[in-house]
Amino acid sequence: MHEMSLCESMLRIIEDEAKRQEFSKVRIVHLEVGALGHVEPEAIRFCFKAVTHGTIAEDAELEILCPPGQAWCMTCSTTVEVSARYDPCPRCGGHQLQVTGGNELRIKDLEVD
Ligand SMILES: [Zn+2]
Repeated sequence: MHEMSLCESMLRIIEDEAKRQEFSKVRIVHLEVGALGHVEPEAIRFCFKAVTHGTIAEDAELEILCPPGQAWCMTCSTTVEVSARYDPCPRCGGHQLQVTGGNELRIKDLEVD
């Protein structure tokens, strides 16, 4: 499952930050999971726990935010917000949408000790 490798790269980012900012414990990880990504927040939680076992991020809490995705509607010629990949355009109901954002996973903030 790809959540596992996502969590492994998250941990690498956290460990790099720990070296740079010299903290030794992570309390809370604020994570943004785009609503259009192929990522299950519950799977992320599960994998994060497994991956961080025995690391500085062990027992860290995951705060998962799911910002809505963005798409370009060809019918309206505007950028609209969509909450799921195959949702129709909220303005015109059309399906001529090109996803332009909202499928990324990134660490927004770390609360550390
Ligand atoms: Zn539209």
